[in-house]
Amino acid sequence: MNLILFGPPAAGKGTQAKRLVQDHGFIQLSTGDMLRAARASGSELGQRVSKILDEGGLVSDDIVIGLIDEQLTNHKGAPGFIFDGFPRTVGQAKALDDLLEARGTAVHCVLRLVVDEDQLLARISKRFEEQGRKDDNPEIFSTRLEKYNEDTAPLIPIYAERGLLREVDGMASIDEVSASIDGALKELV
Ligand code: AMP
Repeated sequence: MNLILFGPPAAGKGTQAKRLVQDHGFIQLSTGDMLRAARASGSELGQRVSKILDEGGLVSDDIVIGLIDEQLTNHKGAPGFIFDGFPRTVGQAKALDDLLEARGTAVHCVLRLVVDEDQLLARISKRFEEQGRKDDNPEIFSTRLEKYNEDTAPLIPIYAERGLLREVDGMASIDEVSASIDGALKELV
Protein backbone atom coordinates (compact mmCIF):
# COMPACT_ATOMS: atom_id res chain seq x y z
CA MET A 1 0.00 0.00 0.00
CA ASN A 2 1.28 3.48 -0.85
CA LEU A 3 0.37 6.32 1.46
CA ILE A 4 0.90 10.04 1.30
CA LEU A 5 1.23 11.72 4.70
CA PHE A 6 -0.11 15.15 3.98
CA GLY A 7 -0.14 18.35 6.01
CA PRO A 8 1.67 21.63 6.68
CA PRO A 9 5.18 21.74 8.14
CA ALA A 10 5.21 20.67 11.81
CA ALA A 11 1.90 18.81 11.51
CA GLY A 12 3.59 15.62 12.78
CA LYS A 13 4.14 13.85 9.45
CA GLY A 14 7.70 12.74 10.27
CA THR A 15 6.73 11.37 13.69
CA GLN A 16 3.82 9.38 12.28
CA ALA A 17 5.81 8.17 9.28
CA LYS A 18 8.50 6.72 11.56
CA ARG A 19 5.88 4.97 13.64
CA LEU A 20 4.23 3.49 10.53
CA VAL A 21 7.62 2.21 9.38
CA GLN A 22 8.11 0.45 12.73
CA ASP A 23 4.62 -0.98 13.03
CA HIS A 24 3.80 -1.80 9.42
CA GLY A 25 7.12 -2.12 7.58
CA PHE A 26 6.55 0.68 5.09
CA ILE A 27 9.51 2.47 3.51
CA GLN A 28 9.49 6.18 4.44
CA LEU A 29 10.43 8.54 1.63
CA SER A 30 10.92 12.04 3.05
CA THR A 31 12.18 14.52 0.47
CA GLY A 32 13.08 16.95 3.30
CA ASP A 33 15.33 14.30 4.91
CA MET A 34 16.88 13.47 1.52
CA LEU A 35 17.64 17.12 0.80
CA ARG A 36 19.13 17.69 4.26
CA ALA A 37 21.27 14.56 3.83
CA ALA A 38 22.48 15.81 0.43
CA ARG A 39 23.45 19.09 2.02
CA ALA A 40 25.24 17.40 4.93
CA SER A 41 27.21 15.25 2.47
CA GLY A 42 28.47 18.37 0.68
CA SER A 43 27.36 16.96 -2.70
CA GLU A 44 26.79 19.19 -5.69
CA LEU A 45 23.03 18.76 -5.26
CA GLY A 46 23.36 19.64 -1.57
CA GLN A 47 25.17 22.85 -2.43
CA ARG A 48 22.57 23.75 -5.03
CA VAL A 49 19.61 23.40 -2.62
CA SER A 50 21.20 24.71 0.58
CA LYS A 51 20.04 28.32 0.24
CA ILE A 52 16.50 27.28 -0.74
CA LEU A 53 16.22 25.08 2.37
CA ASP A 54 17.41 27.89 4.62
CA GLU A 55 15.01 30.39 3.07
CA GLY A 56 11.99 28.09 3.29
CA GLY A 57 11.43 27.99 -0.48
CA LEU A 58 10.52 24.97 -2.57
CA VAL A 59 13.22 23.04 -4.39
CA SER A 60 12.40 22.53 -8.08
CA ASP A 61 9.99 19.77 -9.05
CA ASP A 62 12.64 18.12 -11.26
CA ILE A 63 15.04 17.66 -8.36
CA VAL A 64 12.57 16.15 -5.87
CA ILE A 65 10.89 13.98 -8.51
CA GLY A 66 14.36 12.66 -9.45
CA LEU A 67 15.06 11.80 -5.80
CA ILE A 68 11.78 9.93 -5.43
CA ASP A 69 12.30 8.07 -8.72
CA GLU A 70 15.73 6.94 -7.55
CA GLN A 71 14.40 5.73 -4.18
CA LEU A 72 11.50 3.84 -5.74
CA THR A 73 14.03 2.02 -7.91
CA ASN A 74 16.36 1.34 -4.97
CA HIS A 75 13.50 -0.18 -2.99
CA LYS A 76 11.98 -2.24 -5.77
CA GLY A 77 9.66 -4.90 -4.35
CA ALA A 78 9.00 -3.04 -1.06
CA PRO A 79 5.54 -3.76 0.44
CA GLY A 80 4.59 -0.10 0.52
CA PHE A 81 5.81 3.46 0.68
CA ILE A 82 4.99 6.45 2.86
CA PHE A 83 5.54 9.70 1.07
CA ASP A 84 6.37 12.35 3.68
CA GLY A 85 6.61 15.95 2.46
CA PHE A 86 6.06 14.85 -1.14
CA PRO A 87 4.18 15.75 -3.31
CA ARG A 88 4.12 19.48 -2.54
CA THR A 89 2.91 20.78 -5.91
CA VAL A 90 0.37 19.73 -8.53
CA GLY A 91 3.29 18.87 -10.87
CA GLN A 92 4.85 16.59 -8.25
CA ALA A 93 1.52 14.85 -7.65
CA LYS A 94 1.15 14.16 -11.36
CA ALA A 95 4.74 12.87 -11.55
CA LEU A 96 4.13 10.59 -8.57
CA ASP A 97 1.11 9.05 -10.30
CA ASP A 98 3.25 8.43 -13.40
CA LEU A 99 6.19 6.96 -11.44
CA LEU A 100 3.90 4.58 -9.57
CA GLU A 101 1.91 3.66 -12.66
CA ALA A 102 5.13 2.77 -14.47
CA ARG A 103 5.79 0.32 -11.62
CA GLY A 104 2.29 -1.16 -11.79
CA THR A 105 1.01 0.51 -8.63
CA ALA A 106 -0.68 3.72 -7.44
CA VAL A 107 -1.39 6.08 -4.53
CA HIS A 108 -3.85 4.24 -2.27
CA CYS A 109 -4.51 6.79 0.46
CA VAL A 110 -3.73 10.40 1.35
CA LEU A 111 -3.78 10.93 5.10
CA ARG A 112 -4.14 14.58 5.94
CA LEU A 113 -3.07 15.70 9.41
CA VAL A 114 -5.23 18.71 10.28
CA VAL A 115 -3.60 21.16 12.70
CA ASP A 116 -4.49 24.84 13.14
CA GLU A 117 -1.89 27.53 12.50
CA ASP A 118 -1.58 28.67 16.16
CA GLN A 119 -0.69 25.15 17.18
CA LEU A 120 1.82 24.84 14.29
CA LEU A 121 3.53 28.06 15.40
CA ALA A 122 3.70 26.87 19.02
CA ARG A 123 5.21 23.54 17.94
CA ILE A 124 7.73 25.12 15.63
CA SER A 125 8.98 27.63 18.24
CA LYS A 126 9.60 24.69 20.58
CA ARG A 127 11.38 22.69 17.85
CA PHE A 128 13.48 25.74 16.95
CA GLU A 129 14.60 26.09 20.57
CA GLU A 130 15.34 22.39 20.90
CA GLN A 131 16.95 21.62 17.53
CA GLY A 132 17.98 25.02 16.14
CA ARG A 133 16.96 24.14 12.57
CA LYS A 134 17.48 27.37 10.64
CA ASP A 135 14.25 27.06 8.64
CA ASP A 136 12.22 26.68 11.86
CA ASN A 137 12.86 30.27 12.89
CA PRO A 138 9.51 32.13 13.01
CA GLU A 139 10.15 34.34 9.98
CA ILE A 140 11.25 31.49 7.69
CA PHE A 141 8.51 29.29 9.06
CA SER A 142 5.90 31.80 7.92
CA THR A 143 7.37 31.56 4.38
CA ARG A 144 7.10 27.76 4.57
CA LEU A 145 3.48 28.03 5.67
CA GLU A 146 2.72 30.45 2.84
CA LYS A 147 4.28 28.01 0.36
CA TYR A 148 2.15 25.24 1.81
CA ASN A 149 -1.03 27.31 1.46
CA GLU A 150 -0.21 28.45 -2.08
CA ASP A 151 1.39 25.41 -3.68
CA THR A 152 0.50 22.35 -1.62
CA ALA A 153 -2.99 22.90 -0.19
CA PRO A 154 -4.50 22.91 -3.73
CA LEU A 155 -3.80 19.16 -3.79
CA ILE A 156 -6.45 18.60 -1.08
CA PRO A 157 -9.52 18.95 -3.36
CA ILE A 158 -7.75 16.99 -6.10
CA TYR A 159 -7.18 13.96 -3.88
CA ALA A 160 -10.63 14.38 -2.28
CA GLU A 161 -12.22 14.23 -5.71
CA ARG A 162 -10.38 10.98 -6.40
CA GLY A 163 -11.76 9.52 -3.15
CA LEU A 164 -8.26 9.10 -1.67
CA LEU A 165 -8.33 11.71 1.10
CA ARG A 166 -8.72 10.76 4.79
CA GLU A 167 -8.58 13.50 7.43
CA VAL A 168 -7.15 12.92 10.87
CA ASP A 169 -7.22 15.34 13.82
CA GLY A 170 -3.53 16.21 14.14
CA MET A 171 -4.13 18.31 17.28
CA ALA A 172 -4.65 15.22 19.41
CA SER A 173 -1.84 13.42 21.28
CA ILE A 174 0.70 11.41 19.27
CA ASP A 175 -0.91 8.13 20.41
CA GLU A 176 -4.39 9.33 19.50
CA VAL A 177 -3.23 10.46 16.07
CA SER A 178 -1.55 7.06 15.58
CA ALA A 179 -4.78 5.29 16.53
CA SER A 180 -6.83 7.41 14.10
CA ILE A 181 -4.36 6.66 11.32
CA ASP A 182 -4.48 2.93 12.02
CA GLY A 183 -8.28 3.12 12.00
CA ALA A 184 -8.26 4.83 8.61
CA LEU A 185 -5.83 2.25 7.23
CA LYS A 186 -7.94 -0.67 8.49
CA GLU A 187 -10.91 0.69 6.61
CA LEU A 188 -8.87 0.60 3.42
CA VAL A 189 -7.79 -3.01 3.69
P1 AMP B 1 10.43 19.23 5.29
O1 AMP B 1 11.43 18.57 6.19
O2 AMP B 1 9.53 18.27 4.58
O3 AMP B 1 9.66 20.33 5.97
O4 AMP B 1 11.28 19.94 4.13
C1 AMP B 1 12.28 20.91 4.42
C2 AMP B 1 12.54 21.75 3.18
O5 AMP B 1 12.99 20.92 2.10
C3 AMP B 1 11.33 22.47 2.61
O6 AMP B 1 11.08 23.71 3.27
C4 AMP B 1 11.75 22.68 1.15
O7 AMP B 1 12.71 23.70 1.05
C5 AMP B 1 12.46 21.38 0.85
N1 AMP B 1 11.53 20.33 0.35
C6 AMP B 1 11.20 19.16 0.98
N2 AMP B 1 10.34 18.44 0.25
C7 AMP B 1 10.10 19.17 -0.87
C8 AMP B 1 9.28 18.97 -2.02
N3 AMP B 1 8.50 17.87 -2.14
N4 AMP B 1 9.27 19.93 -2.98
C9 AMP B 1 10.05 21.03 -2.87
N5 AMP B 1 10.84 21.29 -1.81
C10 AMP B 1 10.88 20.38 -0.81
